[in-house]
Amino acid sequence: MPTPRVDIVVHGGQVVTATDVLDAAVAIRGESIAAIGPPELLPPADRYVDARGKYVLPGAIDCHIHLGPEYDDWTAGPIAAAHAGLTTLLGFAVYDDRTGETLPQAITRLRQETERQSVLDFGFHFILFNQPPILEGVGEAVRLGVSSFKMFMTYKKRPPRMCSDDFIYRAMEVIAAHGGLAQLHCENGDVIDHLENRALAEGRVEPRHFPATCPDWAEEEAINRAIAMGAMAGAPVYVVHLSTALGLARIKQAQGRGQRVWTETCPQYLLLTEDEMERWGPLAKMGPPLRRADGPDRDALWAGVAEGYISSVGSDHAPRARAVKEPGWKNIFVDPAGRSIPFGAPSVETMVPLMFSEGVVKRGLPITWMARVLAENPARIFGLYPRKGAIRPGADADLLIIDPEPEGIIRVADHRGMAGWTLYEGWTIRGRPWMTFLRGRVLLNEGRLEQEPGYGSYLVRGRPQPPLAGAVR
Ligand SMILES: [Zn+2]
Repeated sequence: MPTPRVDIVVHGGQVVTATDVLDAAVAIRGESIAAIGPPELLPPADRYVDARGKYVLPGAIDCHIHLGPEYDDWTAGPIAAAHAGLTTLLGFAVYDDRTGETLPQAITRLRQETERQSVLDFGFHFILFNQPPILEGVGEAVRLGVSSFKMFMTYKKRPPRMCSDDFIYRAMEVIAAHGGLAQLHCENGDVIDHLENRALAEGRVEPRHFPATCPDWAEEEAINRAIAMGAMAGAPVYVVHLSTALGLARIKQAQGRGQRVWTETCPQYLLLTEDEMERWGPLAKMGPPLRRADGPDRDALWAGVAEGYISSVGSDHAPRARAVKEPGWKNIFVDPAGRSIPFGAPSVETMVPLMFSEGVVKRGLPITWMARVLAENPARIFGLYPRKGAIRPGADADLLIIDPEPEGIIRVADHRGMAGWTLYEGWTIRGRPWMTFLRGRVLLNEGRLEQEPGYGSYLVRGRPQPPLAGAVR
């Protein structure tokens, strides 16, 4: 029998999964993990990576990212994300409704374009506009590997974004029939539109006036509606970017009844407050808004991720050029030409470092928590598990190796995205992504990328699987 050989052995580090921390080595052959075990029992390798003093996690997934025209494109965005420790991106995609493009046509087009651009592995969530004919393509979309579909319950002034309840319910039935997942941006768009119009009429248009037009109960109400419709339609429901304690309570109730309702939050809702509106003005405008500093929301969200009710963390990276945001200093809602001041902020370059520094180091969450919310649970929910999200034989050899020691300061000068600003400017962080692997190749190596745009593969995703839940400590 010939002696088995592997390509790479990563040894000396602590291997972190969503449930365990092991002193073990990881053997990689080709694009996959071949074995995990004591280094002396693993086959000889062509290359050894000494990860002493470091954590070896499954490759990190950003399951909520906006890339494309008006944001970072699919070349620059993945490069920025790769430098920040990510290996897989699940981006929001839109079909061209002006040309009558169907979902299957849009998937084929965007897949071909993105395969030439992305250095990271990628998949798409498709945004469904309030256009019933688009639902005819859902079944084929699922067969083409797109199993999650996002609908907006708000943004009334930007038709056809905001979906009627009638449309959402019909979409959920179709999605359920084909084994997909319904993602909802849960805010009551009629109420928010009314509150915004009243603020405009009364001249309350400074940045600090924005959050009050999107009250927490508007998120809670929409979450409750989405849960009720999901229950009746038989569709699993995924609440994107949860921002409130009230909304979390509704989700917990539904999970307690055994309903397939899962949620994510984002670093900005865990870490920032509406006080940022004073400092950053329109740059801190996002939907849902940052919540009150003296309110219950941040603590509830930290408890929610620690207790396992919130399954995942996504960046909601939605970078915008300063020039399109800055008119919002004068009027946070509309610019002089009547266009909405855009929502969104850059986030993908700070997510992994902040979740390690603020979650693990500062708040004492176990390192397994990071593997859960940034790898295994997004992989499960979005139909990638166990190919992604896991360190186990047969899985893609995607690794995020974190050096826990270095201290650093977040500076936009070190970022690569198009925004040119970050709401975390000057924050001190501990730890950094030291090395990553994507399908068996070194991707990030002490700050340098070793792969090129186009290395990334399109991921054909399957049905959603329930995420890991329960307390992480
Ligand atoms: Zn988003």
